[in-house]
Amino acid sequence: MVNILIVGSQGDYGLVGLAQRVGDAVVHYLVVGGDATGLERYGVSKAFIVQGVVDEQSLANAVLELARANNYALIISPINKFYRTAMPMVAQSLGAPLIMDVTDLKPSGDTFEVSFNGIGSRAQVTAGVKQPAILMAPPARFKPTEKPTSMSKETLQVKSVGQVKVVSTEEKARGGVRIEDAELIVSVGRGFKKKEDLQLAFDLAKVLGAEIGCSRPIAADLKWLSEDHWVGLSGHKVRPKLYMAIGISGQPQHLAGMMESRVVVVINNDPNAPFFKNCDYGVVEDLYKFVPALTNKLRELLKK
Ligand SMILES: Cc1cc2nc3c(=O)[nH]c(=O)nc-3n(C[C@H](O)[C@H](O)[C@H](O)COP(=O)(O)OP(=O)(O)OC[C@H]3O[C@@H](n4cnc5c(N)ncnc54)[C@H](O)[C@@H]3O)c2cc1C
Repeated sequence: MVNILIVGSQGDYGLVGLAQRVGDAVVHYLVVGGDATGLERYGVSKAFIVQGVVDEQSLANAVLELARANNYALIISPINKFYRTAMPMVAQSLGAPLIMDVTDLKPSGDTFEVSFNGIGSRAQVTAGVKQPAILMAPPARFKPTEKPTSMSKETLQVKSVGQVKVVSTEEKARGGVRIEDAELIVSVGRGFKKKEDLQLAFDLAKVLGAEIGCSRPIAADLKWLSEDHWVGLSGHKVRPKLYMAIGISGQPQHLAGMMESRVVVVINNDPNAPFFKNCDYGVVEDLYKFVPALTNKLRELLKK
């Protein structure tokens, strides 16, 4: 029987569902924030309740200490920013592989078969993984089965190691946009020759009631729009009903942020633009001609 450690807060119990896919296993839970209420319903035999200052480094140290004492075959955590910093430190110290965005898990003799979203979420990859391994996944993806058990609790004092000191923090400038929640997005790329030309997209977005998205160069290099419009691997992940990409080539790093859109429309004057392989409707045309014509037609149809 293998030992598994889950590291997460009280809202991350879904990860127990991933651990349960191993079958016969002793499952421990390191609770970061919370008192493990309700955890005994899911077959977890021991909860370590973290107390004290928790930064990424101090959490990594606490996980390592437990890992050395309990010889965990798998350590499972959520995939948010905090754990993205903490868990690589654990992986590096244990010499263990770290797999992000895990979708499934099966035991396979001494190893595990782990499935995950790879290549910028464009492929479902399954790999044979030796233990120990670190797996990261969104907790909401899994639903644990109820298996009430007697669970022991232990308090774990975690001290900040203070290797990183925050000198100051400054809130990022936001344009009041939450592109992640938008249902309709008109997204702009380097096909626009100058900042003022973005007005063509703003006009179209206004008629549609859409938010404005953009490729990385528009926000990061040219700084024509704030970063909260930026879609992609290093920007925001969006899943609107309509994603209209104008003058965007469709590189994998951009696609990684919008592949879950329901309907994708691409407007590009290069018939070989890679985006045309990843859209529902493709228009090969100069955006400077097509976009104003489309806006006028929609204005007429929608009477706006
Ligand atoms: C680690 C890493 C992370 C990255 N993360 C992201 C990310 O999160 N998001 C992101 O977007 N990119 C990201 N990138 C950058 C990405 O690789 C591309 O460089 C970027 O997406 C290209 O932006 P673009 O399509 O606007 O520009 P380009 O690739 O220059 O494409 C412009 C397109 O406009 C078309 N065009 C030109 N003129 C017209 C016209 N008149 N009418 C119609 N079409 C026209 C062209 O045919 C071309 O296809 C990342 C790169 C790296 C290395």
